[in-house]
Amino acid sequence: MAEDWNLPSGDLMKGKRGIVMGVANQNSIAWGISRQLAAQGAEIAFTYQGETLERRVRPLVDSIGMDTMIPADVTDDASMDAAFAEIKAKWGKIDFLVHSIAFAGKDELQGSMVANTTREGFRRAMDISVYSFIDSARRAAELMPDGGSIMCMTYLGAERTVPSYNVMGVAKAALEAATRYAARDLGPQGIRVNAISAGAMRTLSLAGIKGGKSLMGTGRDWSLLKEDTSMEGVAGCALYLLSPLGRSIAGEVIHVDAGFHVVGVPDLPGE
Ligand code: NAD
Repeated sequence: MAEDWNLPSGDLMKGKRGIVMGVANQNSIAWGISRQLAAQGAEIAFTYQGETLERRVRPLVDSIGMDTMIPADVTDDASMDAAFAEIKAKWGKIDFLVHSIAFAGKDELQGSMVANTTREGFRRAMDISVYSFIDSARRAAELMPDGGSIMCMTYLGAERTVPSYNVMGVAKAALEAATRYAARDLGPQGIRVNAISAGAMRTLSLAGIKGGKSLMGTGRDWSLLKEDTSMEGVAGCALYLLSPLGRSIAGEVIHVDAGFHVVGVPDLPGE
């Protein structure tokens, strides 16, 4: 079951409509963010990877009283065209976009980055995890005549080396750069673009990384707060970025990882 938490309700997102891309199941970060946005009055259209996920995503979407679910494979232009056309036909314009999508093959997420990164694996990781953000931001911005807020999810492996994270770390570095360039391009239209760098969390994506569980354990033990990264913290930060609370924040990567990212050396034994 998904971790449950205090879900502050209110009107911060009242009257705002947007797209959440990347709910696969109840543990998905995109789902935690969606619950928090819905509790603050947002109306959400969900895109999901394809038919096989519909059975798992539908009951979640139903449970928060929403009904717009659109299949969208980010590697397929026709599928993306159709998804954004459907949202345009339904709402005309939107206020926010959450991109919470990444993929690299299991073979790439282990051992040596130098030895295990194939041309095809590199291309696929960059296409799904980075180009899809640029593409989605462009499509979303076309539906934001009154400005808006766009965000994506990244990880510390973009900035520092993390065992097994490999090509995904390279992709996340590109994603963070893409966040800054998109923020620059779209800022004059009143569209803020930012990223959340979350600590390791127990999701399907983490399960694809060799030693993913240990990444969580180390993240917790080394962190300043000595705790796991919480869905509450990540979803709260997303609410901040996507609501008027985040005004004047653009091109930023906010770490939500219990302070793990500032640690150079962990606590010394015996102290
Ligand atoms: P998740 O597996 O629940 O979500 C990943 C999503 O990507 C899934 O919904 C999947 O369907 C979607 N996806 C993959 N390929 C796709 C495609 N071709 N078309 C459309 N959708 C596709 O895992 P998650 O941990 O919630 O991951 C969400 C985001 O958070 C990712 O960007 C991930 O890198 C990032 N992140 C995760 C962690 C963590 O520890 N779990 C930490 C920091 C950042």
